[in-house]
Amino acid sequence: GPALLFVKTSQGKEEGRRFYACSACRDRKDCNFFQWEDEKVSETRLAAREEYNRNHQPPFTHRQNVDRYKNFVMLPLSKRRFCQECQQLLLPAEWEKHSDHQFLCDITTAQLKSPSQLLYPLENKKTNAQYLFADRSCQFLLNLLIDLGFRRVLSVGTPRLHEMIQSRASQEEGISVRSLLLDIDFRYSQFYAEDEFCHYNMFNHHFFGGEAAHETCRKFLYEENGERVIMVTDPPFGGLVEALASSFKKLMAMWKETEKEGHDNKEMPMFWIFPYFFESRILDFFPSFSMMDYQVDYDNHALYKHGKTGRRQSPVRIFTNLTPRMIVLPEEEGYRFCTVCERYVSSGNQHCEICNSCTSKDGRRWKHCVLCKKCVKPSWFHCNNCNCCTLEKHSCEKSDVGCFVCGKAGHKRSACPSLS
Ligand code: SAH
Ligand code: ZN
Ligand code: ZN
Ligand code: ZN
Ligand code: ZN
Repeated sequence: GPALLFVKTSQGKEEGRRFYACSACRDRKDCNFFQWEDEKVSETRLAAREEYNRNHQPPFTHRQNVDRYKNFVMLPLSKRRFCQECQQLLLPAEWEKHSDHQFLCDITTAQLKSPSQLLYPLENKKTNAQYLFADRSCQFLLNLLIDLGFRRVLSVGTPRLHEMIQSRASQEEGISVRSLLLDIDFRYSQFYAEDEFCHYNMFNHHFFGGEAAHETCRKFLYEENGERVIMVTDPPFGGLVEALASSFKKLMAMWKETEKEGHDNKEMPMFWIFPYFFESRILDFFPSFSMMDYQVDYDNHALYKHGKTGRRQSPVRIFTNLTPRMIVLPEEEGYRFCTVCERYVSSGNQHCEICNSCTSKDGRRWKHCVLCKKCVKPSWFHCNNCNCCTLEKHSCEKSDVGCFVCGKAGHKRSACPSLS
C-alpha cells in the first residue's frame, strides 16, 4: 500500500527534507523503499519496482488458500502436513517439493483452529512484532467484551483473540460472538475464509484485497439485529502513533457511515492495547480515551509475561473510549474500585489527595512531589538543577543551566572536574 511521508530534520533547522518510506517496516533492512518527495522517478526504476513487487507476492491468493483449506480438511489425519519452513499447509502432491524441509504431521482439527500456536510468531521488532496474549489476558478480554454486551469484534492485529472467539463460537451455544481479523500477516489466510480475515496494513489503512475486502469490513461493522461492535487492536509498540491513529479514525468513520443516523455523536467503541508511556500521545489523537490499570500479559515476550516466580510487571495497558467504571478488573488479581475516580485500579495505586486521582501508571505506589505539583515514580527524586523529578543518577545535560561550579554544561557540580 501507500508509503508514508516523513521528514528528515537536522538539529536546530525548522524545515527538513521530505521523503517517502515504507509504512509497515520501520527497518530499512526489511524494506528499502525510499524516495525524496520531489524526486523524479525514471520509467526504468518504476518498471523495476513493479517487477520486484510481482516477484514478492505470496505463493497463493486468499481465495486459493480457502480452496486449499477445504481440500486439506478432507484429508485423513495421516496426510495432513504443515511445512514449518514455508509456514504452509501442504497438499500431498506438494510433499515432494518440501522433502528437505521440516514439517509437522497429523495436523488435527484443533490445531487448525489455533493457527497462532501452529505458526511461529514473527518477532522481528521493527515489522511484525508479533507478541501473543497469554491465555489469562485473552480470556479476560473476551469475557469483558461479552459482559459489556458486544457480539462482534473487529480484531485489528489480534490473531489470538480472533482465534479464541472463533473456537468459542464453534463450541458453545447461547451467546455467539463473531470476529473479523485484520492483520498484515498473510499466513492467516490459510485458515480463515474471506469474511473472517482481511489482509490489512494498519499504518496506512490499506486493504490488500481491494474494494471487496473493504466491503467485507463495512458489512461486518454494520450492526444488524442490535449486535454491537467493538474494535480491539494491539499494534506493534514501535509503530508511529499518528499513523495508527489516522487508520483507526478511518475505521471509526467506516463504522459511522454504516448507520444512516450516523450513530448520533457516538464513536465506535474501541480497545487500543499499548504501553502506558504512550498515554499522552494516544490522548492527543483520541481525547475521549482513558487508560485502564489492567496489565496485559504475553506468552512469548520475555519482559511482559507472568514469570514462574510471581508476577512481573507488564507496561501494556488498555486504552478505551468506554466509560472507565464499566471496565471491571479482576479482584482476584488485586484490582480494586476507586469510588472517587470511578474506575478499577491496581492494588498498589493509591488515591492521591492532592492530585485527586489514582496517579500510578505502573502499578507501584507513586509519591507526590509538591515542587512538580504531581505524582512521580517512587524511584525518582526532585533535582533542583533540572527543576523536575527524575532518576537520582542522571546527568543534567538536557538543561541549558551549566554546572554550578564552573558554569559549563554537560556535568553536575558533584562531577565537576575543576573540583578535584
Ligand atoms: N497480542 C495479539 C498480537 C499482537 S502482535 C494477540 O495475541 O492476538 C501485533 C500484531 O499486529 C501481529 O499479529 C502482527 O502480524 C500485526 N501487525 C504488525 N504490523 C502490522 C501492520 N502494519 N498492519 C496490520 N497488522 C500488523
Ligand atoms: Zn517447505
Ligand atoms: Zn482514585
Ligand atoms: Zn499527587
Ligand atoms: Zn519533583
